[in-house]
Amino acid sequence: MKRPINEMKVVFPSLSENERFARIAVSGFLSFIDPKVDELADIKTAVSEAVTNCIVHGYHDTVGKIEMSVRVFEDNTVRIRISDKGCGIENIEQAMQPLFTTKPDEDRAGLGFAVMESFMDKIKVTSKEGKGTAVTLEKKVAVRSCQ
Ligand code: ATP
Ligand code: MG
Repeated sequence: MKRPINEMKVVFPSLSENERFARIAVSGFLSFIDPKVDELADIKTAVSEAVTNCIVHGYHDTVGKIEMSVRVFEDNTVRIRISDKGCGIENIEQAMQPLFTTKPDEDRAGLGFAVMESFMDKIKVTSKEGKGTAVTLEKKVAVRSCQ
């Protein structure tokens, strides 16, 4: 794809309160394209799931850094990459199955990836055990000024 028309990157520690920060940061950054309310809500939900996964799985026994970068392209495609340097995922295909969770005792439903898949147009997950995980989410949004 061509060069982005706008982009940002934030790095923050994997504290549970920063899940809210990540949602608000994405929403604030995207205000320049004025996306439709429901599409923005979908993006915020997907971001929330990806960041929560870094916090509760990637860095389950420690606090580490989470990086979130957002790029917007000319055709209003929004691409968000959320990554951690935590424990990594042993089997990505299995992890992405709806209802699969490695933390059933901690009230996890195993639906985070399913939510990201259904709320976004594309999702790509790369991971290395012991090195970390990166989730790239993409959605083409309709802007309000074009309605
Ligand atoms: P829910 O999201 O419904 O609370 P969940 O987090 O277990 O439950 P998913 O978000 O779909 O479900 O993730 C599935 C599994 O993938 C997790 O249980 C975990 O084993 C693994 N996983 C997801 N993200 C990461 C990550 N960033 N680092 C390590 N493992 C991860
Ligand atoms: Mg999850």
